[in-house]
Amino acid sequence: MLTVENISVGYGPVRAVRELSLELKPGQLGTVVGANGAGKSSLLKAVSGLVPVRSGTITFDGERIEATPAHRRTELGIAHVLEGHRVFGDQSVEANLVLGALRRYRSRRARAEVRADVSAQYERFPILGERRAQLAATLSGGEQQMLATSVALMSRPRLLLLDEPSLGLAPKLVEETFRLITALREEGLTVLLVEQRASLALRIADYGWVLRRGELVAAGPPSELTEGAQLDQAYLGAAT
Ligand code: ATP
Repeated sequence: MLTVENISVGYGPVRAVRELSLELKPGQLGTVVGANGAGKSSLLKAVSGLVPVRSGTITFDGERIEATPAHRRTELGIAHVLEGHRVFGDQSVEANLVLGALRRYRSRRARAEVRADVSAQYERFPILGERRAQLAATLSGGEQQMLATSVALMSRPRLLLLDEPSLGLAPKLVEETFRLITALREEGLTVLLVEQRASLALRIADYGWVLRRGELVAAGPPSELTEGAQLDQAYLGAAT
């Protein structure tokens, strides 16, 4: 479904991602783990089109997209939940959800259909239903994370990019977040998850990549990655 080949991403003199390749099959939950500054967010942004690649190719469902504008990639079925669960704080929960649908479908999608999707989100996240009229900025951190994910789902994505969904959440909410990601995968969604909490992410993933200073240092099924000192070494090396 997603093939990333030899991509490099940079900001001025900073080389955030160096000649990185990975492949995600339909229905797979893949996770990219690595320390702070390893280049995880830059990789996701390259896939969703928020930063340009300096070289390399990205193919989604057989279509080359590395030069495709971000909004068009959303229309193709790629949704990105940014780190820090960003939502429109001065809008209500419900307005955020409706805007999520418009991201992909603009005016083409019937109102009734958007309504049905909003209701489906309230079923999945009852707390959002209870708070539908509340301004998003007044939600708790965990609720904002829920809303950000829910907004992404409103675009009916086929590939969901999640950037550190557990960041800043209390342990109980972290568990809930990981349960939700597992549930989404079980529903058939393809997910690329970026996490610093490597052991948790690898517990639920089908495949993992370890990123260190912009380069992949290991890749494989979680059982292989967590064996031995491979993962620790990657972290120790990236600790500075
Ligand atoms: P974290 O877990 O801390 O979010 P990360 O693995 O997601 O880290 P990135 O955010 O992709 O890493 O950053 C990779 C490198 O690129 C870092 O050295 C960072 O300082 C740099 N970088 C990221 N965004 C920018 C930017 N807009 N301008 C300049 N440098 C940037």
